[in-house]
This record gives sequence, structure tokens and C-alpha cells, in this order.
Amino acid sequence: MAIKPIILTVDDEPQVLNAVARDLREHYGGEYRIVKAGSGTEALETVHGLKHRNTPIALLVADQRMPDMDGITFLAEAAQFYPEARKVLLTAYADTEVAIAGINSIGLDHYLMKPWDPPEENLFPILDDLLSDWLATVPLPYDGIRVAGTLWSASCHDTKDFLGRNQIPYQWLDIEKDMEAKALVEAIPENKRRLPVVFFPDGTVLANPNTQALAEKIGLHMHAEQPFYELIIVGGGPAGLAAAVYGASEGYHTALIEKKAPGGQAGTSSRIENYLGFPKGLSGADLARRAVAQATRLGAEILTPQEVTGVRIEDPYRYVVLSDGTELSCKALLIATGVSVRELNVPGIEAVTGAGVYYGASLTEAANYRGEHVFVVGGANSAGQAAMFFCRYASKVTMLVRSSSLKKGMSQYLVNQINDTENIEVCLRTNVVAVQGEQRLEAITVKNSNTDETETLPAAALFIFVGAVPHTDIVADVVERNRAGFIITGPDLIQEGRRPKNWKLKRDPYLLETSVPGIFAAGDVRQGAIRRVAAAVGQGSSTINFVHKYLETV
Ligand SMILES: Cc1cc2nc3c(=O)[nH]c(=O)nc-3n(C[C@H](O)[C@H](O)[C@H](O)COP(=O)(O)OP(=O)(O)OC[C@H]3O[C@@H](n4cnc5c(N)ncnc54)[C@H](O)[C@@H]3O)c2cc1C
Repeated sequence: MAIKPIILTVDDEPQVLNAVARDLREHYGGEYRIVKAGSGTEALETVHGLKHRNTPIALLVADQRMPDMDGITFLAEAAQFYPEARKVLLTAYADTEVAIAGINSIGLDHYLMKPWDPPEENLFPILDDLLSDWLATVPLPYDGIRVAGTLWSASCHDTKDFLGRNQIPYQWLDIEKDMEAKALVEAIPENKRRLPVVFFPDGTVLANPNTQALAEKIGLHMHAEQPFYELIIVGGGPAGLAAAVYGASEGYHTALIEKKAPGGQAGTSSRIENYLGFPKGLSGADLARRAVAQATRLGAEILTPQEVTGVRIEDPYRYVVLSDGTELSCKALLIATGVSVRELNVPGIEAVTGAGVYYGASLTEAANYRGEHVFVVGGANSAGQAAMFFCRYASKVTMLVRSSSLKKGMSQYLVNQINDTENIEVCLRTNVVAVQGEQRLEAITVKNSNTDETETLPAAALFIFVGAVPHTDIVADVVERNRAGFIITGPDLIQEGRRPKNWKLKRDPYLLETSVPGIFAAGDVRQGAIRRVAAAVGQGSSTINFVHKYLETV
């Protein structure tokens, strides 16, 4: 990184100011420049100067009690110039209420009670978290990967989505708008010029690379270190990641295999507001990043992108077959492969999928529809969240909902948010029946199921959230599934008092065990799953208890 981002600390008491600056310099001086100011006014002048030079500020640490300007006022003013900078307030015990109010009023990230000694326990862990959060979400003026292409290309979308979901920062160059980028692409020999073109800092250029080529170039961990693990987890959504954390922390030699990017469906969520312990909510990408760090630190091996294409049994081992043909064996296997959004089969949709029509949240595309009218299809929480996210960019978001009420499929907090948002319109009893456009989406035709009237509306983008299909083909001939393809587990396997076919053990299947001993299923992929992050995390972690019992017997 060429420019060191700034940590700005402000306090009117010189002794406290020097102590904070000293602690910050000792711990963060390598990567950040520590700047101090003796008053709110002085700090604001510093903020203005840094903004003019386009120098990034990562963190603002302000004392609440300052005579010329209190800490909350300073942080609110500074946030106008640096909305992404993380904000920490230093408080005395009596200021707690002000600080808590600040979480709502100015988006305060944290407040610290003075004194914070020892900093190793009371200061650095909190700031480490905030700074890694800032680094992961803020585009820095650094010399990183650049992706050049056009907005209306499905392969450009796939590349951006892959990089974004794997937390790889990149700069998007739209060659229809940016003449320098166009020239950069045109400098490539014509026979190699396929979009997107990905430029790496070391000078490598890849034209329309597939996921594997990108992953290899970036250095993602795709290949297993060992042929055998005690526990293999297929799927890196919340269920799989929770199992990896608990499995590794219990000392099991654990590998998790994820075909796209850790985080699963949750990783595509713009803001999860109902997950315990995050009062301000957190993005799915943030949750995934934290979970991967936690699982890896505890010793789990995470292979991504790597797809499991089959599962076979050779007692007492369970084998997973990878897409490159290699096999890994284990004693216990967890299927946590989740679901994906069902496709919308209407005339015209295939031609513009990836060029205006997107499945799931496609957060990477939101900023491209700034000031435009976009449509969201679906009435469940995922659709509601997407509408709340896109309304920050789009001039108008229209939700097309099949049922007669939003309340039928959505949590009340989201219904309230949607009702309170001016630029979101909700059309109930409405279905999309056709899509128009050749190179990109141009219009959609919708039908009201009450009146049977159809209407064709110009549309910049259509984001689709219409139900779920489980990813269970890999175990289709191995474990019992229901008619919709969801995996049956635990007590649901006992029919009229009988254990599943071929079940040879003297005990019933454990709660999260499938019809094959030692193969478990957790999260959305299970029959009757409650499709929530917390439920998936709960099941993923509980599985380890059953794995433990199972491993005692083999
Ligand atoms: C946009 C959106 C917003 C949401 N918001 C919320 C919310 O606010 N609160 C809430 O509680 N819930 C929310 N949900 C629901 C929640 O995300 C899911 O319930 C949860 O992610 C399920 O976790 P999971 O681990 O079971 O499966 P998934 O999250 O579906 O993860 C499964 C993973 O397995 C991988 N996989 C599949 N097949 C293979 C294979 N063969 N080989 C290797 N890997 C494979 C997939 O790539 C995927 O990463 C939301 C869902 C969506 C789509």
C-alpha cells in the first residue's frame, strides 16, 4: 500500500493524548500513520487537510469531554468527510448513555471506558477488529487487481462476484465509460482480447479467466494438504463454517470444502440484522470473513474454490470426490451444502441473465444502478433485505410479490423498514411473466393475479429471490432425501417405528445424522430447516457433538 492510512486521535488532556498516541504508535505504527490533535477544532482542521490530499482515515478516536467540541460532535462532523472511518469514543463512566445514543445517532462503532490498561486486553483487540473491518470494506488508493469490462456481460459479473465474495479487493474499469481503460484493453492482442480482462499488480493479464485460473493466480487454498481427515465438511455457509470452528476447536483434524466462496447465501446478504451479538447488524461478507479467520486460527483447513462432485462409502471411511477427480477420505462427513435461488423460467430471461437480470443479492452490481429503477422479485427476507440495500443506490425499487401480503413471508422488522422507505414500492399479487432485451435487460412484463391484467414496464435491473433448491445431487444415491431433494435426518428417518433401510446400528440416527451412520447434514439442506443464519450456525456447531459420539464407536 503506497499511502499509510491515518489513525487520528483527539483529546484535550495532553497526558491522555500522548498515552493514546504512544499505545497506537507502538501497535499500529507499521501500517498506519498516527496523527494527534489537542482539540475538536484542531482535529477537524486536520480532517479537512487530509481530505484535500485524498489521504484515507481508517480510525477516529475521540475523547467525549472536550471544552470546545464534544467527542460525539467531532465524530459526526468528521464522518461527513470520511463516512467509512471507524469511530471510537473515549468515555468516563458517566458518559455511557451518551455513547450508547451515539451508536444510533452517528453510527459510533465502539466506546471505551478510560483507563484502558492493559491495552493488549482492553484496547488493541477492539481496534484490531475495527481496522480489519475497515480494510476489508474500504477501497484504498492502492495498486491492486483491476477488472476491465462492460456492465452488460455475464462473465464480467461472474468475475466481479467471485472476487468480491472471496474478499479480494479489485478496481472495476468500465470500458464504455473510461477511455483509459478502453485503451488498456485495446493494447492487448486482438486474439486474446476477451472480456473481462483482469490486470494483476505483477503485470500478469488474464482474459476472461475461469474461476480456477483466477483462484490459482490469487493464491487461494484449493488443494488439500492430506488425503485423510477425521471430519470433512462440504459447504462453507454458516452451518459448515460453524462446524469447522467447533470441529477444529475440539481437536478434530478438519477440512471444509467450498465450491464458490465461504459465506454461502449469508455471504450475499447486505445486512443481517437479527444475528445475536451484532446490535448494528453485520454484512454477510463480514460474517464470512470473521468465521473463516476463526476456523483457520483454530486449525481447520478451508479449501476454496473446490467442488465436491460425489460421495461414496467404504466402511468405516466416507470419501468425497472432487471436481478434478481426486478423492479425500474421512471418518465423519457433514453435508452443509445449503440451497440456491430457484430460477425464474419466463420467456426472454436467459438472454439477459447476468446483463440486468441477477439471481440473489448481487451486491457487486448495486452501485451500477445508481439513480435507476430496479425490480426485486420475491417476498421473503432475502428479497426484503435486497430492496433495503438497493434503495440506497437506485432511484426507485419495486418489489414484485406473488402473495397478498408482505407479512406472510418476511420478518416484521423488514416489513416496517420497507414501509418506511419512500423509494420502495411494493406490488402484491404480482408475477413476472416475460423479460425483454437483447444485449441487456430493457423491460419486464408483469401480471396481476387478481385482475389478470398485464403491463410492460421499462426496467434497468431485475434481482430474483423466488424460493430455494437444495444442493444434494452429490448424495442422491447415498442418503435418504425427500421429494424436493432435502436431506432427511434424525427422528424424521424413523417411519412407523422402523429405522432407515440398510441401517445396521443398534441405535437410532442422531438428531442431525442422515440415513448413513457418520454422514451428517446441517443447515438449509435439511428437510424442515428453519432457513436462518442462527439456525444454520446452531446446527453446524451441534453436529460436532454427534460426530464426537459417532467417532467413539469407529
Ligand atoms: C440474500 C439473503 C439474505 C439473507 N438474510 C438473512 C438474515 O438476515 N438473517 C437470517 O437469519 N438469515 C438470512 N438468510 C438465510 C441464511 O443466509 C441461510 O439460512 C444460511 O446461509 C444457510 O446456511 P447453510 O450453511 O445451511 O447454507 P448456505 O448458506 O446455502 O451455504 C452452503 C454452501 O455450500 C456450498 N456448496 C454447495 N454445494 C457444494 C459442493 N458440491 N461442493 C462444495 N461446496 C458446495 C455453496 O457454495 C454454499 O457456499 C438470507 C439468505 C439470503 C440468500
